[in-house]
Amino acid sequence: MRAGGTDCGKFGWAAGHAKRSGKNCPAQESLQLPAISAPGQFRSTAAVSRRSMNEKSIRDRLVEHGQALFRAPKQPIPFTKEPQADALLNDLANHPHAFVIACVMDRQVKAERAWLIPYRVSEKIGGFSIEVLSALSREDVNRLMREPEPLHRFVDTMADHFHSAVQRIRSNYAGNAALIWAGEPSSAEVVYRFLQFDGVGPKIASMAANILAREFKIPLSDYYSIDISADVHVRRVFSRLGLCAADVTVEQVIYKARALYPEFPGMMDLPCWEIGRNWCKSRRPVCGDCYMNDLCPSAKQK
Ligand code: SF4
Repeated sequence: MRAGGTDCGKFGWAAGHAKRSGKNCPAQESLQLPAISAPGQFRSTAAVSRRSMNEKSIRDRLVEHGQALFRAPKQPIPFTKEPQADALLNDLANHPHAFVIACVMDRQVKAERAWLIPYRVSEKIGGFSIEVLSALSREDVNRLMREPEPLHRFVDTMADHFHSAVQRIRSNYAGNAALIWAGEPSSAEVVYRFLQFDGVGPKIASMAANILAREFKIPLSDYYSIDISADVHVRRVFSRLGLCAADVTVEQVIYKARALYPEFPGMMDLPCWEIGRNWCKSRRPVCGDCYMNDLCPSAKQK
């Protein structure tokens, strides 16, 4: 027997199927439902409703700030704060692969260090054209990233990922990485294309799509699959705003953001990150200056 085939309560598939088909699930019919709880046993309906209204107000304000950032004019992005490295990463017209390779490098080291790698390599080979990069062997890339000092903490693995990213761009996108996001594809398609690069997981793929949409103003046909990046700032802010529990996990934040704003869960990413970095500090939050102050349940307790 297939696992969960009749276990409607545990897996939910059969219950969902019954609801859609208009028939009762036989296993559900035999369930003894618990009696309605006594008053006071659970939160009152009014309290639940108040909490949900506050949650909606919090969502609306975060989305409002996210939309303001989304609509802001395009500006150069200070990925590394090193002008020449940032110029290369911002040059989507001539070096779109620099942005893609930097995303691939963005693992288990500080972001600034990872995003410097394309420029550091370009200094060594005198440019960053896809033609020159495509001619490099795996060993060449390893040497470029290893000597005189390693450009990444996991230099062997990341050199392999660098090399395979270049080869993928050459073979799948005719050397033009901009084809990954050209022609107004769906957000799911863009995230999927990033996921196809060795070493790229959902977090980086979603971050890449979000940067393309929000910062580079690349048009996509929808934004449903751009998730929030649940880093330490975002998790802390979600928790203090009462959107999630104090010990919230990355997955819980991702799904909560999807539940709050399914059209574009990643829209709340930058507002939460900025709140966390500027005011909602881990030890001493500066609630008086935070624009969520009047809605935040944690601020009211101070
Ligand atoms: S009001 Fe205070 S606790 Fe609430 S999100 Fe802002 S800084 Fe954090």
